[in-house]
Amino acid sequence: MNVVSWSGGKDSTATIILAHEHGIPIDAIVMSVVWFDKENGISGEYPEHLEWSVNVAKPMFESWGYPTYIVSADSDYIENFHKVIGRGERKGKIRAFPLGGRCAINRDCKVPPVKDFVKSLGDDVVQFIGIAADESERLKRMTGNKRSLLAEFGYTEADAKAFCEQYGLLSPSYSMSARGGCWFCPNQKISGFAYLKQNHPQLWEQLEILSQEPNKVSEGFRYGSTFAEMAEEVEKYISKPEQNTFGRFTKIREDMKMCKVNAQTEEYESFFILGQDALFTNARLDRTTIPVGLYAYDLRDACDGNINELKDFVLVNHWGTVLVKEPIEGASEGVQIHAYDYNYIGETMTLDEFISIPEEAEQMSEVTMA
Ligand code: SF4
Repeated sequence: MNVVSWSGGKDSTATIILAHEHGIPIDAIVMSVVWFDKENGISGEYPEHLEWSVNVAKPMFESWGYPTYIVSADSDYIENFHKVIGRGERKGKIRAFPLGGRCAINRDCKVPPVKDFVKSLGDDVVQFIGIAADESERLKRMTGNKRSLLAEFGYTEADAKAFCEQYGLLSPSYSMSARGGCWFCPNQKISGFAYLKQNHPQLWEQLEILSQEPNKVSEGFRYGSTFAEMAEEVEKYISKPEQNTFGRFTKIREDMKMCKVNAQTEEYESFFILGQDALFTNARLDRTTIPVGLYAYDLRDACDGNINELKDFVLVNHWGTVLVKEPIEGASEGVQIHAYDYNYIGETMTLDEFISIPEEAEQMSEVTMA
């Protein structure tokens, strides 16, 4: 059986169009839709994207003979937000907002229904994955029963987008923001949240209400900022008319602004990557503030909540930066990262504490991870 895991994004949509053009059979297309509040019928998808997926793209695929299923998990954002931590020093607190880099919503709400769906079809399933011909690292990671039609037919990401446009099947999310995903996603740019506030104030209000809730494990919302701090940035953004061109949505390259923080004063999370203890931060570090003897590398996410590359410098989809004590070979070209290559230890640590860890303790940490 041939199955397409479809997000509504350009690459998975172009995969379906390619199959249609070349007469390649598809037995099922499956889309996982995240709920924000299932009880009150509030989806986690941007309304424009969901409306287009259900009322434009899905009927088109079905007219081509491709059965299209929309699945979702029982769990939703609200449930995740209110989950009470059962042990440790944070026992009794609620999980609160999902954090960039380890999104519980991806893990608990987005991925499981697709896995369950594919599993229900039996062992004889080939999954068509929307990875373009110019995404070499992601292609290398493709294993087993997965195929990329875009790579097989030589379609780059830009080709995929043009192909969708040609068929009138490009999601409206591309005119709102450079990346799709949930409207509450902490990885969105400030311009994305500004769009949310101005165009979907009722959804923005849901986040405001949650931000007032007591007993959260952390007030962190986005890259170390609280919701109130993020809201302040959004207001500033909205008040600048040259930036605020919603509707025609000008993509503001926040990456280009490169807001860098001082490595000496930053608060870090204890981390482990590629066999080394490390410090992790969502921020971009000012490389000139890094002490001699430490090495900084950026991490890139695959737009699915997972880290997939470590590199000297990452401009687009910057997930965070790590500091390690040993240089990492191949980082100038980029090192492919798998889920088993890294872990959040669950503690905060200062730069001084990290520097003063004795070597034996680091080795112990490595043994524990193994
Ligand atoms: S990483 Fe963002 S888009 Fe992905 S599941 Fe989490 S909140 Fe949604």
